[in-house]
Amino acid sequence: MRGKLALGLIGAAAVGGLFLAERMRPLRRQTRAPAPRVARNVAMGALCQAMIAAYETPLTDAIAQRNQRKSRGLQGGIPGIAGALAGFLAMDYGFYLWHVATHKVPFLWRFHRVHHVDADMDMSTAIRFHFIDMLASLPWRMMQVRVSGVSPRELAIWRAFFFGSILFHHSNLRLPNGLDRRLATFLTTPRMHGIHHSQRRSEMDSNWSSGIAIWDHLHGTFRDTPPQTAICIGVDDAEAEQDIALNAALEAPFRTQPARQSGSSGVYSHQ
Ligand SMILES: [Zn+2]
Repeated sequence: MRGKLALGLIGAAAVGGLFLAERMRPLRRQTRAPAPRVARNVAMGALCQAMIAAYETPLTDAIAQRNQRKSRGLQGGIPGIAGALAGFLAMDYGFYLWHVATHKVPFLWRFHRVHHVDADMDMSTAIRFHFIDMLASLPWRMMQVRVSGVSPRELAIWRAFFFGSILFHHSNLRLPNGLDRRLATFLTTPRMHGIHHSQRRSEMDSNWSSGIAIWDHLHGTFRDTPPQTAICIGVDDAEAEQDIALNAALEAPFRTQPARQSGSSGVYSHQ
């Protein structure tokens, strides 16, 4: 119990520190008033968390318990630390593949678009998702846990790593010169993910990793250009601006979808 409290306090301190750091060392110039953006994103994150607590957590925990009892999946089939590592890598690679699918499958893009519509990026963007997205991704998430074979303990470690990773790489934190580039050889970084949030399709279709960055390097989808000052964050369709608002964002997946720009030029709507 004390250990959990200590971990909770460390986590809260890390989140608070990152929140302050991204304001003291901004990576990109923000174009919108921060308070309403953050409030809106936190509200969307709270809806997602309710869905996760109601469905994803109990279902994936049950699968992880069966993994442990039956020694199944990648982790169950490989003894010791190598098995734990294999399970971790399988979970992470599953997220890479899922992220590609959310951009390439029109039904999934309806929901993922709500995340990308945010016209600025900071830690709060990491939790700006449509709550139905948490249901749409649930079958894949359950399969990830089953195939990876992670135990309840490894799944808990994975969740903490993944949540920390998405907060970090969505943040607007400008790391010291060279550090971001060195980190990007193995971890998804703020510069790397900023390129993925570009309106330009050629830039958005890169840097799909959500945890470790090795998958982008292996698949040839890693990009470290352009510089952040040349990126316009968001989505370049006719309804992106209106869908930033909370109600519009929640309705957006259920409307006829606006045409996406298919070229590499993008439409820079707020520069
Ligand atoms: Zn994306």
